[in-house]
Amino acid sequence: MATKRTPSFDSHNPATGEVAGTYPIMSAKQVSEIVAHARTASAQWQKLGFSARKKVLLSWSNVIINRIDQIAALISLETGKPVGDAKLEVSIAVGHIGWAARHAEEIMRTAYRAPGLLLSNMSATVQRSPLGVVGVIGPWNYPMFTPVGSITYALAAGNTVVFKPSEYTPGVGMWLEETFNEVAPFADVLTTITGLGETGGALCTSGVDKISFTGSTRTAKIVAAQCATTMTPVVLECGGKDPVIVAVDANLERAVDATIWSAMANAGQSCIGAERVYVDERVADKFVELAVQLAETIHAGAPGDGNYGPATMPSQIKVIQSHIKSAIKDGGRCAYGGPESVKPPFVQPVILLDVPEDSAAMREETFGPTIIINRVKSMREAIDLSNASSYGLGANVWSKRQGKKIAAELACGMVAINSTFSFAAVASVPFGGVKDSGYGRVHGPEGLLEYTYARTVVRTRFNVPLNLLSFKRKAKEEKLVITLTRWLKGRFG
Ligand code: NDP
Repeated sequence: MATKRTPSFDSHNPATGEVAGTYPIMSAKQVSEIVAHARTASAQWQKLGFSARKKVLLSWSNVIINRIDQIAALISLETGKPVGDAKLEVSIAVGHIGWAARHAEEIMRTAYRAPGLLLSNMSATVQRSPLGVVGVIGPWNYPMFTPVGSITYALAAGNTVVFKPSEYTPGVGMWLEETFNEVAPFADVLTTITGLGETGGALCTSGVDKISFTGSTRTAKIVAAQCATTMTPVVLECGGKDPVIVAVDANLERAVDATIWSAMANAGQSCIGAERVYVDERVADKFVELAVQLAETIHAGAPGDGNYGPATMPSQIKVIQSHIKSAIKDGGRCAYGGPESVKPPFVQPVILLDVPEDSAAMREETFGPTIIINRVKSMREAIDLSNASSYGLGANVWSKRQGKKIAAELACGMVAINSTFSFAAVASVPFGGVKDSGYGRVHGPEGLLEYTYARTVVRTRFNVPLNLLSFKRKAKEEKLVITLTRWLKGRFG
């Protein structure tokens, strides 16, 4: 009798197109069995307590550091990024593991709140409890850093995790599970499931207690809709169209260096990568001249050759190509490169100038090694144009004196002043966006609390003669409350 073969899919080396690995496409039934195991394990994992979980997570980070060459090679194979970039990604991810492991207990410590004058015989506390099982859905552009930013915080808080990596980077996802299991006290604490979009969809409706999703805005909306059917809460970390504001008093050399890196590194496939620059017209010519000089020194190529690699997802090339073309058609100019820079699977650096704000190239996420530089008359104009986007993930401000003032007016989740990407590596601060860039946060205390729920406990410390919540309440007690309310004008706290 013929046995039914498990369906599978291949991951590829995007620089060569060669098959990098073959993985099973897990069905909804398999996903739900795995989630059931994770649920059984969650009670035990929670019972372990903070210090035992910390030990496990720190041991895991040691395993990762000891095998950094192995995982960096795998990340490079599946994404096409240079091995050096992959190592940097791993290092930052390890920083997050350590921080979440060391700070979970203090972040989740029971909080004592003032009960207010009327209820001063009560103690009011807020306890934090892990959710149970958290489903993590990850993208391919930073296949280690991004999911670890959810996985580790969820684990440190006392949840077990079921992780669905992108179909482009399943090998990295499996590696995370395998290395975690080397240090795990028992099975099913972190499980990786493989498959295509449907497998991710199955995770959304599997009964997990929260979904932490990182990916495109388009998929985020599908994920949120799927989760709504089972009342599963979601954290959505989506794309961006990050602006860079360059003031007249900016250190131009540093601003150009960081902006070109931010836009081109990882082949421009960074959600917080620079996509549009608003530069004060008084320094715009110099900024463009330096940007072109720098772009001339970098090129795309296979790992070991290029400063950055190919487009990891072949279909993204069409988007990049169409944005370059529409920028030119809509009135923009090429300062460096152009449509001819697109040579699949690689895209060489492209710098575009004076692209109208209503062009698709200015409005939509390009996710390629391109940057648009537009000049502005004032910082007011730069702020308004930065905010006139459907996205609101990160932003960069370059100014010696006005950085904080400009940052305070930006409608986005994160701002780097005189730096780029820095907020992603600082584990103590939340990461996330507003508008089409998503909702909820990863990293920092806010990110860890996403994987917990608040349990309010209000306890009678001693009894008082005034018993308002009773059918035995007297008219004179009601009068007293009203007098107090008038007197205190609602200031009971
Ligand atoms: P996608 O939205 O295509 O995919 C993200 C993940 O969702 C993948 O694992 C994918 O699986 C899965 N998925 C696809 N369809 C469904 C579905 N119906 N239900 C559940 N899961 C599904 O994003 P990309 O992988 O292309 O990632 C790039 C995007 O991510 C960019 O827009 C980028 O800006 C954003 N991003 C945001 C970050 C942030 O923190 N804000 C960080 C990094 C990236 P499969 O691959 O198998 O289809």
